[in-house]
Amino acid sequence: MTAVEERPGIRSRPDVEPGQLFIGGRWTETADRFDAVDPATGKTLTSLARGSAADVDAAVDAARQAFDGWAATPGRERARVLHRVADLVRARADEIVAVESADVGKPVSLCRAVDVETVAEQYEYCSALAQGVDGATRQIPIPSHAFTRREPLGVIAAITPFNFPLILSTTKIAAALAAGNTVVHKPAEDTSLSALLMAGLLAEAGVPGGVLNVVTGFGSEIGDPLLAHPGVDKIAFTGSTAVGRHVASVAGQHLKPVTLELGGNAAHLVFADADVEQAVGAVIKAFVFNTGQFCMAGPRLLVADALYDTVLGALAEAVPHVPVGDPFDPATVVGPMAGERHRAKVEQYVEQARADGGRIVAGGGRPAIEGGFFFQPTVIADLPDDSRVIQEEIFGPVLTVQRFTSEDEAVALANGTPYGLAAGLQTTDLARAHRVAARLQAGIVWVNDWAMLDPAIPFGGVKDSGFGREYGPESLDSYTRTKSVVISLA
Ligand code: NAD
Repeated sequence: MTAVEERPGIRSRPDVEPGQLFIGGRWTETADRFDAVDPATGKTLTSLARGSAADVDAAVDAARQAFDGWAATPGRERARVLHRVADLVRARADEIVAVESADVGKPVSLCRAVDVETVAEQYEYCSALAQGVDGATRQIPIPSHAFTRREPLGVIAAITPFNFPLILSTTKIAAALAAGNTVVHKPAEDTSLSALLMAGLLAEAGVPGGVLNVVTGFGSEIGDPLLAHPGVDKIAFTGSTAVGRHVASVAGQHLKPVTLELGGNAAHLVFADADVEQAVGAVIKAFVFNTGQFCMAGPRLLVADALYDTVLGALAEAVPHVPVGDPFDPATVVGPMAGERHRAKVEQYVEQARADGGRIVAGGGRPAIEGGFFFQPTVIADLPDDSRVIQEEIFGPVLTVQRFTSEDEAVALANGTPYGLAAGLQTTDLARAHRVAARLQAGIVWVNDWAMLDPAIPFGGVKDSGFGREYGPESLDSYTRTKSVVISLA
């Protein structure tokens, strides 16, 4: 990680051009527009094209037309193009950081070190995957040459949420393109700017027109036309569990394959044998990272009885000192929430916590910062286990703290919500680490740190957090199908 002080080029807000749709390799205007808002100031950043069902039709047609050519492009050539994307991302990192930070409210330090670097690494990783999209030979007891082919699916509808616009769109687009698919991407209406920036950048890297198309607009208006479009071969959705259920039902009606990366509400377990200083650092990182707008955040802290008072005391001491402020200040760790409605939801949960008898140990309200959608990192203790504040996904910088007396109770509490995306534990006992990791219902488990993610490590959910895996070689399974060919040698 480069020190923030060494990156002076990203300290000011960018001037952002009004957005257009990107269809068939061309920028396209729409009749209606909507505002992109800077969450740190509440002011309009620029305006965006409000896509319609007709625009979705045009984008899917362009993706269909481009499919045969891109699918037939040798994997090695697709790999070269994807690698050029990675190089361009690094070369233009300052510009990308500025746009993403202004649009989402991400601290520039976080955006540079995590979002932009991860995107470059994803394109590099998928560049390698593009060269290995192949099958296997199989032996069968008749004279034949039997083998499998891995084939791209066709046109992918990629729908992404507001919180990690760059990373989550790349997760889908880089893997889908590596496998030879074409894509229609619908970014979240709150945070669409980097999708447009990346569309231009992919074209510059040599991605042919129509291979990636971006339609901005509202899920309520263009979501269903895209999901149900007969020209779409697969739906790759990341977003809330509520919208995910709808996506799954439309996919079911139209018998389209679908992967669903949905909400989370991860438990973070601190056992009595944990290294307390390290554990408290990881706990804070896990709930304030990206202002808590992180599907894999750790908003539910479970602490062993023996350490409960110590850990709570350390949190009460440290959390008020986490720097909250302007994302363009390099010292900022927690920026604003990405939108007014997201902060309003967090405020409702904190109000609910007070009504349920919760004790506010740190934070609990808005900081004294002019404008913008800021909320203090907040720690709440003494809530009943069945409180909505514990059971539901808050998606903000809020930590609830519960206590446990045994390993069995810790696991039961951790698994005791409908979600199953991530989980983590702090322990110095290796046997416990293995035992508990195996029992936690989650797609990924971290031990003695949090949010260790890499393009090589698959992630995805269980239970209400969805199904399907992205990242890792497994991502190719999400974007290809296997065909068997048996040639008679008789
Ligand atoms: P959301 O479900 O409100 O929106 C996600 C996307 O779906 C947006 O692009 C939205 O426009 C679109 N959409 C809305 N209605 C639609 C419809 N009827 N048809 C098709 N598309 C529609 O989610 P959000 O508020 O943007 O993001 C936060 C949620 O995403 C949280 O629940 C978070 O946990 C989840 N998330 C999950 C992961 C993961 O990998 N599992 C990653 C990031 C975020």
